[in-house]
Amino acid sequence: MANFRFKALEIAQSRQALPVTPPAERVGDYYGSNTFNNEVMRALLSPEAYLKITEAIETGGRIDREIADEVANAMKAWAVSKGATHYTHWFQPLTGETAEKHDAFFDITMDGKAIEKFKGGALVQQEPDASSFPSGGLRNTFEARGYTGWDPSSPAFLMDNGAGGKTLCIPSVFISYTGEALDYKTPLLKALAALDKSATAVCQYFDRNVTKVTATLGPEQEYFVIDKALFYARPDLVMSGRTVFGHSPARGQQLEDHYFGTIPPRVNAFMVDFEFEAMKLGIPVRTRHNEVAPGQFEVAPTFEEVNLAIDHNALLMDLMEKVAEKHNFKVLFHEKPFAGINGSGKHNNWSMGTNTGVNLLAPSTKPKESLRFLTFLVNVVKAVHDNADLLRASIASAGNEHRLGANEAPPAIVSIFLGESLTKALEDLEVKSEISLNKGDNVYYKLGINRIPSLLRDNTDRNRTSPFAFTGNKFEFRAVGGGANSSSTMIVLNSIVANQLNQFKQDLDARLAAGEKKELAIVDILKKYYTDTKRILFEGNGYSDEWVEEAARRGLSNIKSSPEALEVYLKPESLELFEKLGVLSHAEVESRYEIELEKYIKKVQIESRVMGDLAMNHVVSTALKYQNKLAETARSLVDLGMTEEAEPVKDLIREISRRVLTIKNNVHEMTETRKKANNLGNTADTAKMYATDVKDFFDVIRYEVDKLELIIDDEDWPLVKYREMLFVK
Ligand code: ADP
Ligand code: MG
Repeated sequence: MANFRFKALEIAQSRQALPVTPPAERVGDYYGSNTFNNEVMRALLSPEAYLKITEAIETGGRIDREIADEVANAMKAWAVSKGATHYTHWFQPLTGETAEKHDAFFDITMDGKAIEKFKGGALVQQEPDASSFPSGGLRNTFEARGYTGWDPSSPAFLMDNGAGGKTLCIPSVFISYTGEALDYKTPLLKALAALDKSATAVCQYFDRNVTKVTATLGPEQEYFVIDKALFYARPDLVMSGRTVFGHSPARGQQLEDHYFGTIPPRVNAFMVDFEFEAMKLGIPVRTRHNEVAPGQFEVAPTFEEVNLAIDHNALLMDLMEKVAEKHNFKVLFHEKPFAGINGSGKHNNWSMGTNTGVNLLAPSTKPKESLRFLTFLVNVVKAVHDNADLLRASIASAGNEHRLGANEAPPAIVSIFLGESLTKALEDLEVKSEISLNKGDNVYYKLGINRIPSLLRDNTDRNRTSPFAFTGNKFEFRAVGGGANSSSTMIVLNSIVANQLNQFKQDLDARLAAGEKKELAIVDILKKYYTDTKRILFEGNGYSDEWVEEAARRGLSNIKSSPEALEVYLKPESLELFEKLGVLSHAEVESRYEIELEKYIKKVQIESRVMGDLAMNHVVSTALKYQNKLAETARSLVDLGMTEEAEPVKDLIREISRRVLTIKNNVHEMTETRKKANNLGNTADTAKMYATDVKDFFDVIRYEVDKLELIIDDEDWPLVKYREMLFVK
């Protein structure tokens, strides 16, 4: 087995960077070339169909059958001309992966000839045989079938399927026959529509020209890259996406030199390659750089409308995995693949923009717009404050549980960073709203609102330790897991902000009806919101132990385990919120909760099994062999009359015995605990038992195994070591 490790190392070390050539000289020549985008549609569709489609994209409306037929024809012609042989509805089931079911573009006729087929019906609706996707009991309750339907707001695209052919992928929703959502996209679109409605209504107090508000997302994606041979020499990485054992390397990230270092050539070639492919798919990838941990990197696209940004992120992750294969790498999106160094997040940069081109979270130099900015800002703060536990639930997963609160990662406490000057401006508001206005007074001037933008411009302070940070013209939710589909979080964030804006409108309308002056009423409401919610604002080091204590004093939640976090979805307030906004029905929320729990149980169960297997079949067996070698050495020494010199060797033998025994006992007990957990007969109880009783064994077993790694001869150690996985490139 140790041979396997050295063979893998030899292979990894002998690899060279692959040459990569750009698809064309100018980006403009290939950007979006693999998408059925606006330009293509304009060229291939009749003016009438084009108009109908763009309308449907704008308003989320339906398209009739005739138009669908025309679009399907155009799409097929375009795809076939580019080498496509198949088409598929591409969707995001609740497994967290993307799914596709490929159908050929042609039918075989009675006389055995192939004819091309792809009609409007196949475009807007496809029935995948999807009975194995999780539905949390929904499909049993309602109807056994699920179908997928085209989401015209996200362009269809071509994917190379490896063997030469290409597949036309049609971004789709996935719903049960009776209309219940079985995917991430359906409720996301509903949450975004709810936000549009309520944010537009609030914008109307400031500018009548605003008729649409679009939520925007720029997800920064962190990931690790390791050589393929080394990856396959680590069964834990293969099975669970993370290393369950491994002693920290002598050089970890203490020096932080990787962060500023140059990107290794092989990795660079991989990045350039997947960026070209991403550009062809119209994914606006923009930055690439090293992250803090060795072997860790980041890719960030330019922000887009949320639904599109999420499709693009899911697609990008797929693409990266495929391209990595070509470069003999494996990409790890797991939130915590290596203990003791940074994990990977997906920072969700989020804001809202109007059809008039205004970013609602960007401070403006115009006083009236400043008040609008404050209105949206404070409402977001209140939404997050009032629903912090729901946001926490939206990022709960087995993987993220290892990351939150660990090395260089946001804690499980939701807090908001606004920056010193903005906080000061809000504090001022608290005092200033008491002022009385005289005739002729400029209300903005008197309230000091005109000074906010200049305050902000001077202040570029950053806080990298806050889970939810205001970064000048957007919020950045940093606690989202690297492997997650951002939809869970975006469904919650956009829903709670929509709900809060509705509340604000109600509060304001009541005051306006009572004859209050608009600007003063707004400021007074904002002041009240601020006072009620400011305990969630935190400017200090979010990674410190002091903050954990301080947050507890402030009464903020710190929900560490996923099953506990997920329970918040079932609270009556949560169910009511989603239902009121038309985002998710009670049954849909309940099914999602059930699915998340099941995913959690499976993941922890796999980790636990892999751990037991590696501990017994790789580590303990190696330890015993090494112990034999030591025993021979000790015997030889005694034979030579060197009894004293044999003592340290005997000590080592004793230490190994002790550690082996602890490992063996704990693996046995862990297995017994798993059995108990599995037999509880209730998903929630099982999940909780996995989160505590089963997971408690992880650290104990790992501690002993990592100690053995330090004792046993490097030549004999079977598992690729941290320093090898992280530094061999
Ligand atoms: P930073 O240096 O703070 O990380 P960047 O300008 O690099 O800031 O942006 C990080 C991410 O935030 C990028 O994906 C970017 O497109 C995104 N972003 C910028 N403005 C917005 C916005 N208005 N809405 C959503 N995301 C945004
Ligand atoms: Mg950032």
